[in-house]
Amino acid sequence: MTFAIETRRLCRAFGDITAVDGLNLAVPEGSVFGFLGPNGAGKTTTIRMLLGLIAPQSGEILLNGCNLTRNRSGALSGVGAIVESPALYPNLTGREILTLAARLSGRPVKQGIEALERVSLVDAMDRKVSGYSLGMRQRLALARAMMGSPRLLILDEPTNGLDPAGIADMRALICSLPSTLGATVFLSSHLLSEIEQMATHCALLDRGRLVFQDRLEKLSSAAPSVLLIETDRPEALVQRFLDQNVLAEREADQVRIHLSLSREERQALVNALIEDGIGVSGLREQKPTLESLFLKLTGEGRGLPQ
Ligand code: ATP
Repeated sequence: MTFAIETRRLCRAFGDITAVDGLNLAVPEGSVFGFLGPNGAGKTTTIRMLLGLIAPQSGEILLNGCNLTRNRSGALSGVGAIVESPALYPNLTGREILTLAARLSGRPVKQGIEALERVSLVDAMDRKVSGYSLGMRQRLALARAMMGSPRLLILDEPTNGLDPAGIADMRALICSLPSTLGATVFLSSHLLSEIEQMATHCALLDRGRLVFQDRLEKLSSAAPSVLLIETDRPEALVQRFLDQNVLAEREADQVRIHLSLSREERQALVNALIEDGIGVSGLREQKPTLESLFLKLTGEGRGLPQ
């Protein structure tokens, strides 16, 4: 497998605070890779190191196979990024900003316009950015990052602060990038639901250390989701699961079991229960929270935002 990003024992401290502690990231080419962690976990510090904005104290970074310390311009040449709130000039139009960005980076102006087309901003490109919504500004920032079709896009909390429509637009755009641009996308977030809806792979960062890194579906098996079954015979249902060595608890007229089932498996379960004379009036899946995942993976909990 080839990797768009590889870090080896990457470390960075600020005074007494170790922000990133021996980080070994391996981001497969062509993936949408979610970099998850609570506030203060070290995500932005990692991203700033990946982009050469701050130097690591130790460790190595390879971008598209090129060593960032030894060949900075080579490593960063195939990379586009949005970091923190990207600065945009409010009195310029979208077209002017991308034209300027193209000129400054020595690219043909047409590449800027192509990038605006990709993020569906062509209709608004002759309006001043001061009149853009936050979602439109974020799409403009993405267009700027996408100029020149980089092989790797690094996005720090790309949906932060957006309204639901802006989030949906940004999500759809990000998910399309591996196929439309042929790019790998590395994005950070403190929201599990966000990553679940976009990523193919993910890593979980806890106080500067990786506690998980793999394909996204492996994360759900690390902490199986909970099924809540509404039934007219909760006691009988709990007993039925316990007889099958499945952990089950009664909660009023609901039974909670810790099991991840596919849609077909859930339907088969309901059919089997009805056959056994146990009425099912509702069945609902409760996804694991970021908190419960950390609990499972690190053996401790903490007050995480959801
Ligand atoms: P958030 O989601 O809140 O942005 P994060 O996961 O991106 O969090 P970082 O911003 O990388 O986390 O911060 C990691 C730790 O390093 C925090 O304890 C933070 O206070 C500290 N830190 C980051 N930058 C600096 C700095 N320039 N000086 C001092 N401490 C810093």
